[in-house]
Amino acid sequence: MRVLETSYISPQIKKIRFQGNISKWNFQMGYASVVRVSETEFRNYTVFYHDKENGIFDIIFHIHGNGVGSKYIDTLQTNDELFISQPRGKVLYDPSIKQQFFFGDETSLGIAVALCSLLKSNNYKFQFYFELDEDNKNVPELLELENYTVFTKNGSFINEKWVSNLPLFQTDEWSRANFALVGNAKSIQTFRKVLKYKNQGNIYSQGYWLEGKKGL
Ligand SMILES: Cc1cc2nc3c(=O)[nH]c(=O)nc-3n(C[C@H](O)[C@H](O)[C@H](O)COP(=O)(O)OP(=O)(O)OC[C@H]3O[C@@H](n4cnc5c(N)ncnc54)[C@H](O)[C@@H]3O)c2cc1C
Repeated sequence: MRVLETSYISPQIKKIRFQGNISKWNFQMGYASVVRVSETEFRNYTVFYHDKENGIFDIIFHIHGNGVGSKYIDTLQTNDELFISQPRGKVLYDPSIKQQFFFGDETSLGIAVALCSLLKSNNYKFQFYFELDEDNKNVPELLELENYTVFTKNGSFINEKWVSNLPLFQTDEWSRANFALVGNAKSIQTFRKVLKYKNQGNIYSQGYWLEGKKGL
């Protein structure tokens, strides 16, 4: 695949448009592609927009600076070439449920953009919760996301008591919603536990990264 253009939405959020033969690729909400980030290492990233006719697709990358993937992606420039696999994995969306609740962080902005446009066009009720670094709190607005709440990333989402006091749990509005939880594995684990305890909704979850672990 070839890099067509790159832009930074914030110093930590890089959007890249790639070009290549994607005519046989299968795109599903939640699927991810593996990107070769060194001679021997691969990392998962989500294609959030594609146009098969023109062979282009877009990915939003979190440049967190802690790993080989993040450092490599930061260096990518127009005309660089690299290996990206076709998307595969776990579907995170049930179209039969007309209420959709989403939790994620910087790694989940791509899937959030794709999901938001799908939910809007189907007239579904939806809400996004994001935990983001202070520097990225304006990114959802810049990506034209809707119905979102941004929480500062400060470890609150690993505190069960704090999570159970979130506005979402103060009404029964979301009791039959589909919950898609992605991003920081520890936050998801806590969120999932509280949802289960409250016996709430249908839950899809996938950790996108785990502190201290390379490449999930
Ligand atoms: C299905 C799926 C889809 C994904 N889609 C995307 C996507 O669209 N965009 C995207 O940016 N990421 C996405 N990710 C997450 C991405 O694959 C991980 O963040 C990956 O670990 C990055 O590789 P790395 O080489 O930079 O860090 P690694 O070498 O894997 O990890 C090194 C250390 O960095 C830290 N680390 C890893 N990720 C983060 C992070 N996000 N923030 C802070 N510290 C971190 C951890 O402590 C880890 O021990 C996805 C993951 C999965 C499983």
